[in-house]
Amino acid sequence: MTTTHITHWIAGQPWRGAAQRRGDVYDPATGRVTGQVDLADAAVVDEAVGAALDAFQQWRHASVARRTTALFAFRELLNARREQLAEVIVSEHGKVRSDALGEIARGLEVVEYACGIPQLIKGGFTEQASTGVDVYSIRQPLGPVAVVSPFNFPAMVPMWFFPLAIAAGNTVVVKPSEKDPSAANFLAALWSEAGLPDGVFNVVHGDKPAVDRLLEHPDIKAVSFVGSTPVARHVYETGTRHGKRVQALGGAKNHMLVLPDADLDLAADAAVNAGFGAAGERCMAVSVLVAVDPVGDELVERIKKRIAGLTVGPGTASGSEMGPLVTGAHRDKVTSYLDSGVTDGAALSVDGRAHPIEGEAGGFWLGPTLFDHVRPGMSVYDDEIFGPVLSVVRVSSYDEGLALINANPYGNGTALFTNDGGAARRFQHEVEVGMVGINVPIPVPVAYYSFGGWKSSLFGDSHAYGEDGVKFFTRGKAVTQRWLDPSHGGINLGFPTNQ
Ligand code: NAD
Repeated sequence: MTTTHITHWIAGQPWRGAAQRRGDVYDPATGRVTGQVDLADAAVVDEAVGAALDAFQQWRHASVARRTTALFAFRELLNARREQLAEVIVSEHGKVRSDALGEIARGLEVVEYACGIPQLIKGGFTEQASTGVDVYSIRQPLGPVAVVSPFNFPAMVPMWFFPLAIAAGNTVVVKPSEKDPSAANFLAALWSEAGLPDGVFNVVHGDKPAVDRLLEHPDIKAVSFVGSTPVARHVYETGTRHGKRVQALGGAKNHMLVLPDADLDLAADAAVNAGFGAAGERCMAVSVLVAVDPVGDELVERIKKRIAGLTVGPGTASGSEMGPLVTGAHRDKVTSYLDSGVTDGAALSVDGRAHPIEGEAGGFWLGPTLFDHVRPGMSVYDDEIFGPVLSVVRVSSYDEGLALINANPYGNGTALFTNDGGAARRFQHEVEVGMVGINVPIPVPVAYYSFGGWKSSLFGDSHAYGEDGVKFFTRGKAVTQRWLDPSHGGINLGFPTNQ
């Protein structure tokens, strides 16, 4: 079978060199290798950063109107080609088509937000701050910036960052996951068609050596990273040590707390949707359901019924609700938790290995799995599994549930299910998590708020997109100006104060 060759996109065109190393890209639904991706070494990264630096010399001076023209054109093209992009995502990631379209829609939202850059980037102006003196602020781009993204949202996560980075006048080098690299190239081609000058948007493919070169490169001014916590920590520490601005979003273990007064059908639907959507490969997936007594038994029964009805199959099949895992190695790792959970004493209520699969045997399949009576200290509770494995923890009170969530080292997303407004208000006040859903299981903020977790789920102080994104990709300048006025002449060696 022939495979596709996937290479870097530098200065508006595919790279023409010969790669020293390449990686296999799979169709997770069949297990077959469908592509070979070039893996950049330091020299290729330098080439991409060089192109971004050259382009920055012009793009930083492009008018706001010129930049928004490119953004609006990109928005139109992305909207028109979303079906093709979804196909690309499904073929390398494995998620079902509706889910791929969902991630594109959420990325589009950020593009649309960035189209408002003329309003977002406006500074302040104070006339007559001192007599005859005006003070105003402006925000300017940083230079070439890097975006390093994970496999689970090959289109949306890069779009959390690059629309605002480009709108603000920066140039970009994206380093997508080597597991599903083609979506980034698809987006690069759209940018060219949208009339973005060559070199403003570049893609380098690769793994650790490429990322490490970006982190050390003196011409990269900021790094936006999304991935697992150990790598996020490494990126934050290395990037900041090299004098860069860094926002590094890490892993998660999201808890959904269900109070006894909750609508149990709504809660069971939400747990199944948020636990098994995208085969649990979402940083906002619900992986722990915390049931407050006495609703545990009833909730587990309702969830089991729903799991039994789930169709697991290729993302390309219209009936599929859950696709395969991204690679064979990841599937095997996730599957190993089914054994360790049992060894640790959790009750395996639904064994995903027994779930019917409507796909080729060679695909990286694992059906939805439910563990009950899980406790901290068990590996299924302590580790981010990043697969279709939902754990139920039983607690006797709201306070015990809250304490459990707040003791967890991660703090990405959480959800409370209740009909009690007072409890909901208390929860949003007390919980130590960056994104909170009240009767909403996957509370990914809309584009005009910002996305980010707390604790080990984010390193740095800047969340993604929204106002935080505008700030992250710009630096402020304050100008104090006076035009000649004879009354202000004369010598005065004192520190300037308002007159
Ligand atoms: P990953 O950490 O393995 O890889 C992320 C990126 O880092 C990839 O581009 C990869 O090539 C690169 N990378 C991997 N190892 C590296 C190393 N040692 N040094 C430098 N770069 C390295 O993550 P993944 O498996 O692609 O994605 C899943 C993880 O991402 C999960 O932990 C998930 O929770 C997390 N995630 C978090 C968010 C969030 O918003 N917090 C969103 C999506 C995914």
